[in-house]
Amino acid sequence: MKKRHLISLIAVLACTNSAASFAQTIPAAQADNALLQAAQKRKDPLIKDLTTLVNIDSGTDDAKGLGQVEAVLAQRLKEVGASVEIVAAPPAAGKMVIGKLQGSGTRNIMLMIHFDTVFGIGEAAKRPFKIVGNKAYGPGVADAKGGALLIIYALDIARERGFKDYKTLTVLFNPDEEKSSLGSRDMITKLSADQDYVLVFEPPEADVVTVATNGIAYVHLDVKGRASHAGSAPEAGRNAAVELSNQIIQLKDLGSPAKGTTVNWTVIQAGDRVNIIPEKASATADMRMSDVAEIQRVQADADKIIQKKLIPETDVKVKVENRRPPFSKNAESDRLAATADSIYKELGKSITPVSMRYGTDAGFAYHPETGKPVVLDGMGIVGDRIHSSDEWADLDSIVPRLYLTVRMMEAMGKGK
Ligand SMILES: [Zn+2]
Repeated sequence: MKKRHLISLIAVLACTNSAASFAQTIPAAQADNALLQAAQKRKDPLIKDLTTLVNIDSGTDDAKGLGQVEAVLAQRLKEVGASVEIVAAPPAAGKMVIGKLQGSGTRNIMLMIHFDTVFGIGEAAKRPFKIVGNKAYGPGVADAKGGALLIIYALDIARERGFKDYKTLTVLFNPDEEKSSLGSRDMITKLSADQDYVLVFEPPEADVVTVATNGIAYVHLDVKGRASHAGSAPEAGRNAAVELSNQIIQLKDLGSPAKGTTVNWTVIQAGDRVNIIPEKASATADMRMSDVAEIQRVQADADKIIQKKLIPETDVKVKVENRRPPFSKNAESDRLAATADSIYKELGKSITPVSMRYGTDAGFAYHPETGKPVVLDGMGIVGDRIHSSDEWADLDSIVPRLYLTVRMMEAMGKGK
């Protein structure tokens, strides 16, 4: 819907050779024509790099592929003038690529995105990068290899424009976002604490930016009973599976519709032999929340509820594990989204702020206790159907998104 508008608008852009004639096409726009031209010039080289990166498998556990992508990203970062550090991220299979630029301004800005994908080895060979119309397909094309290249090419344009209005410009590429960033979360938290602004380049579905994402937790439920032969002495057993079933029914409403918290029991395990009363049973629930305090609330509620047992002499434990904190809705991110919208207006387009139900690394970058840095997600290449074999990236979004990123850096350098 909105996307159709985007496509037709940029089709005009693609058909014109100069930014000046583009400006004539949309007289209301106050576009920075030099920037627009610089972005247009980089569209084809970016697509070439995207082809290279998409054709390298880099699933979260694929050390070899991640290493190859890491090498390309590190090389490109050096080419745009950054000093580059490769940092191990145990237990992640891949390493982090951290680029740094020193400017002459006063604000610290970080641009970040992951370069792992959800796909296994052989996926890229099975369905290599391809273009159909204005869409590109292939594993990780939007999530998030397109976003990684937007960062690099935006830095290239910024350098060409002599942009130095920042104290430090930090780039973080991490290799494990698709598995909860277990190895990179501490680095994201640490680096972001020093920033004034953090932009995250996850793919937006249309002309939007993300101003809030849900946090993710797992709720682990464990029951210990007593094993016994189910045929000859069932009364001597304490059936952990039955108690687990009782507890799951009691714990089915841990979520809070008012707070947007969901808790859904998804994995259940008990017993492996038909003739044995199971000694152990366990279950795990997927929990999503927009308020981090919900973790304590769910833990406290669950602790109370599990006291009521069906099978005596069973031991029941529940533990909420925080996997990824939420990037909570806040006024500063809304304000930065409005800046993005005013920049897109220069192109005769608009940006809508959205809240997402999924979790991203924006949750680790956002520090609600200090309100710093200001975080905005969904800065990447427009795309959809992510994590599926139909994942696509909108090639027509490259030029406006490059334009947006450069102008955002310039605005953030001035504290806007
Ligand atoms: Zn992603």
